[in-house]
Formats: sequence, structure tokens, C-alpha cells
Amino acid sequence: MKIAVVGTGYVGLVTGTCLAETGNQVICVDINAEKVKMMQDGKLPIYEPGLDILFHRNIGQGRLHFTTNLGEAIEEAQIIFLALPTPPGGDGSADLSYVLGAAKDIGKLIKDYKVVVTKSTVPVGTADKVRAAMDSQTKVPFDVVSNPEFLREGVAVEDFMKPDRVVIGTTSERARKIMGELYAPYVRQGNPVIFMDERSSELTKYAANSFLATKITFMNEVANLCELVGADVDMVRKGIGSDERIGRRFLFPGVGYGGSCFPKDVQALVKSADENQYNFKILNSVIEVNETQKKILFEKVKKYFDGELAGKKFALWGLAFKPETDDVREAPALYIIDELINAGATVTAFDPEGMDNVRKMIGTKISYAADPYSALHNADALLIVTEWSLFRNPDFDQVAKLLKNKVIFDGRNLYDLQKMLDCGFYYNSIGRKIVT
Ligand code: NAD
Repeated sequence: MKIAVVGTGYVGLVTGTCLAETGNQVICVDINAEKVKMMQDGKLPIYEPGLDILFHRNIGQGRLHFTTNLGEAIEEAQIIFLALPTPPGGDGSADLSYVLGAAKDIGKLIKDYKVVVTKSTVPVGTADKVRAAMDSQTKVPFDVVSNPEFLREGVAVEDFMKPDRVVIGTTSERARKIMGELYAPYVRQGNPVIFMDERSSELTKYAANSFLATKITFMNEVANLCELVGADVDMVRKGIGSDERIGRRFLFPGVGYGGSCFPKDVQALVKSADENQYNFKILNSVIEVNETQKKILFEKVKKYFDGELAGKKFALWGLAFKPETDDVREAPALYIIDELINAGATVTAFDPEGMDNVRKMIGTKISYAADPYSALHNADALLIVTEWSLFRNPDFDQVAKLLKNKVIFDGRNLYDLQKMLDCGFYYNSIGRKIVT
């Protein structure tokens, strides 16, 4: 099939590349000319494990192309994916200007039947708005399909190639058939392609992300209670996770959820509910709890140093909002850094992939280390914010030698409490007893 993908961010580029991998002809279009030039030169603009191999193979075999020209991209395409940003607007609702702007432009350009697919996360009713935006520009027939994306950054290629499920929202038989054929190679093991109406499909994505954000937040609250009553959240996690109804995944407490999706999607769902005179109480609580949780590591540090943080130096491991990505949007580390700097402390950070993006956002507000150990020199404490594998088993003798104080605040519960005791660290993690 011939496919155009509009927007080549984490979702668009993975979608385009993975669709080329099964033999489709794909043109990706982006307004960022610098990014397009990079990709035309065979360079990946994002870090995503496993993407480079597929990217180079499909460019090499002539199935994956890049352009800044929307007309050129969609001219021959049967299917046009919109993988555009839907950032939070001022009132928390999803800003649809990118999606609707592109829909209008596509409406002006199409000459024959197209299936226009919203892959962006968009509120209920957006398919109708996309349809109206295109209708205002053209008399050519088209269908609008909602096909939310469930990939996770860090394992995006695997998620796209072998999705747990594919959700397709359409009431058009013609579009349903085309979309079914397109996705058939990805669900050969029998994972479901679930067809539904556009509105249910749009809501499915928000419900999924909001449920996951709620699950994390619930565990964060259990962890906070564990600290007060002397229980160990790791034990509680194992105890409840073995119940199939609960499941083992997404039960790890931490420093609050972040990233480019959960915060904005939970907000947007609350806003959609508000607009329909429904008070989504549980999600309002999730947002409130997460705001506090993002500061929990800072509060622990502040308490330990009796509020005397001015002039203190902190080492920080992990900037990306989660491991295996360079994405730092809404990363908890940024909130912790802000608090520390405002309190007069200095921060030296290390992250395997996220440092360039943080540098672009906050520049020299903090220092950046070349490796985890050089961040530690003479620091008053080490703070761990992202659970990158390379932080899991460090040389603790080195860590102890380099730090000024043998003090670790761990927002991801990476280390065994007995081990920390044996190594002589003060070790304060989430929902577990403090080792001193
Ligand atoms: P992103 O910010 O990484 O990428 C968006 C891209 O669109 C950028 O390259 C930008 O230059 C480009 N763009 C903006 N306006 C354009 C235009 N008019 N024409 C062409 N290109 C344009 O965003 P993302 O993380 O890929 O997210 C895209 C959508 O997918 C969002 O709605 C998001 O909520 C959703 N989503 C994201 C993820 C994720 O893990 N990142 C997962 C599922 C769904």
C-alpha cells in the first residue's frame, strides 16, 4: 500500500518505519526542515531502541522517504496518518490546531479517495471535526478513521510490530477493509484488531492512559502509607501483583508519572468530562496526588538536610522520564532540579540519552557529567530519578569514595536494603524503611 505519515516524532517516525517494514511504500512529512534533512541524510532524530536497523533497511530498500512537502507526500497515498502533536492548551484540553490545520490542508490537496487516520491522541468528537475541516475544502470522497497508538517509548518498535491489540474506529466499510489489510501482518499471532465507532476508539486511548496513570498513583499512595506504618512497598507490590485481577505490571512506586502522554492525557480527559458536565473525581485526585509525588524526593532531601540546601551539591542519575528514551518532556527530574536550584543548591546530572534534550531546555542551569561516576565528585548526596539499567549495579565502593557524604535518595527503589546497610550508606527510597 502507499502511505503518507504527517508528523515524524516518536509516533510518526516509528509508525512510518514499521509500516515500510512490511512492504508498504511510505512517505513521511514534517514541517521541521532540519529534521527532514537529517532523515534524508540517513540520521535518526530520536533515540528509540531497534529503530535504527529498520530505518536504514527501509531507506536502503527504497520504501521509506522523507519530505517537507505535504502535497508530494499525499499525492499517491491511499492512507494518510496524522501523527501530529496534541499538546495541552491553556485550559488543559487537547490543542487540536495541528491536527485540524493539517486536515484542512489535506482537504485542499486531495484529488482522489483517501483514508485519513488520526494516530494522535485526540478527544472524543475529533473525527467529526477532522471530517468537517476537510469537507470545508473538498468534494472528493474520503473517510476519517480513529486509530489511537498504544506504543511505549523505549519499546516502541516492538509494540508497533507486535501490538497487544489494534483499535480501529470507523463506521465506513471501505475504510475498515483497508485498515484491516494494512494491520494484518502485525497481528498474525492472533492479537485482536478491535473495530468500533470513532468515538469509542478516541475514548479508549484516554481511558487506557488514565487507567495506567491511576494505577501508578495508587501505588505511590500505598508507598507513602508504607513509610508511615513501617511496611515495605516491595512486599506489598508482590503480594497484590500475584493476583491476576491486579497483575504484576505498573505497580512500581516512584517519583510520579511524567512524559509527553500521561500528564496531558489525564488532564484532557478531565476536561472532556467537564465539558460534558461530568466531574471525573478519581482523575482529579490522580492529578493532585501526582503533583505532590513529583516533589517527594526533594522533600526527603530537604528534611534530611534540615532545610539547609543553599550551597549544597547534588548528583542526579537519570533525566529522561523513563529508561530507554531520550524524551524528557514532563520528566520528574526537571521538577526536582527546579526545587533544588530554587533552594540554592547545585546539580550535576548524568543520563545516557536525555542530556542533549535537557540542555536544550534548561541549558547551564545544571552541570552535565560524562558518566555516572563523574557526577558524584564531592556531592552531598546522590539522587536517582530514572531506572536506567546501568544504575542498577554500580560499583558502590566507587560511589562511596566519590560522594562527600554516603547518602543516596532513590526515587526508583533500585537497591536492596541489606546491601545498602552493608555498604554503610544512608539510603532513603520510596515506600521502604530508611537505612542508616
Ligand atoms: P512529537 O512532538 O514527538 O512529534 C510531532 C511531530 O510533528 C514533530 O516532528 C513536528 O515537527 C511535527 N509537526 C508539527 N506540525 C506539523 C505539520 N503541520 N505538518 C507536519 N509535521 C508537523 O509527538 P509524538 O510524541 O510523536 O506524539 C504525537 C501524537 O501521538 C500525540 O497526540 C501524542 O499524544 C500521541 N502519542 C504519543 C505517544 C508517545 O509515546 N510519544 C504514544 C501514543 C500516542
